[in-house]
Amino acid sequence: MGNAEEMLSAAAANAEANAAPGLSPRPERRVAVLACMDTRIDLFPMLGIQRGDAHIIRNAGGLVTDDAIRSLSISQRLLGTEEIVVVMHEDCGLLGASEDDFRAALAADGVLPGWRLGAFDDVEATVRHSLARLRASPELPKRQSIRGFVFDPETGAVREVAER
Ligand SMILES: [Zn+2]
Repeated sequence: MGNAEEMLSAAAANAEANAAPGLSPRPERRVAVLACMDTRIDLFPMLGIQRGDAHIIRNAGGLVTDDAIRSLSISQRLLGTEEIVVVMHEDCGLLGASEDDFRAALAADGVLPGWRLGAFDDVEATVRHSLARLRASPELPKRQSIRGFVFDPETGAVREVAER
């Protein structure tokens, strides 16, 4: 409770700093980042990017869902990006989560959605699977540079997931 009011006040107080007159909606560095929504991930300092540089697409897990592909397709086809970076992380809430329990809780509330929770057991294997899916997606015309990283919130380290 109360966050929306405080956020509206913050936005009003910071309007001058938030304005981006003349900044293009086309990402300057022609890159889109797909990342987990985890609170510990601050993509701008982590990746050395600024406002205007990149599209940022976030969801639970940083998973390649149909909707992530929708956003990436728009990013490439309409707004000129050519590279994709996927960012997952250690200690993700989806690591070892129960698909069945989540589905049962939804079912108890009378809903059976078409999407899955997206639980996984191995973060690197999941990144590799994501990269493979992106590389096999004709929705994306630019598939030469698709890379995957894993962030460790405890140390701040970011490592690339090597191809197999
Ligand atoms: Zn996560």
